[in-house]
Amino acid sequence: MSLEHLWAGWRNAYVTGSAPGSAGDGAHPGAADTPERCVFCRIAASGPPSVTTGVLWVGRTTLVVLNAYPYTSGHLMAVPLRHVGSLGDLSEEEASELWAATRLGVAAQEATYGPEGINLGANLGEAAGAGIPRHLHLHAVPRWRGDTNFMTAVADTRVLPETLATSWERLTAAWPPG
Ligand SMILES: [Zn+2]
Repeated sequence: MSLEHLWAGWRNAYVTGSAPGSAGDGAHPGAADTPERCVFCRIAASGPPSVTTGVLWVGRTTLVVLNAYPYTSGHLMAVPLRHVGSLGDLSEEEASELWAATRLGVAAQEATYGPEGINLGANLGEAAGAGIPRHLHLHAVPRWRGDTNFMTAVADTRVLPETLATSWERLTAAWPPG
């Protein structure tokens, strides 16, 4: 799986999985992009961390949540609580905490999974492959040599070694203080 493929695939995961009925079928392009229908805004309004929502951590302006359709176990995202689409629209506090939250998430991934690498990145804008282009989100995806061998998409089906609930429990247990 190329990096380009990985990035583009994230869009499909969100659009088809995380917002049933509100996006992804192409009939209502952009429907998920208003705060009222935005999956990230719904997650931001869901309260404290919970295995049910997959939210791992909530700060003053940022949360960290598991991707509902991970590419590998522990695939998570740092997301501003506010419906904001671009890096330039973040306040200094939001920008600072977005990065701090990403570091916490990566530290928990390292402690939990001992990955051989981590893909870290964001799709800024629709042309870059963002499924929810108006709500910024930063991905962190643990990687292993050869992981594409067992995760290669075949008819959009991926084999994952553990459930989301297990990932949530393990990452929560390993979450660093701060
Ligand atoms: Zn939003």
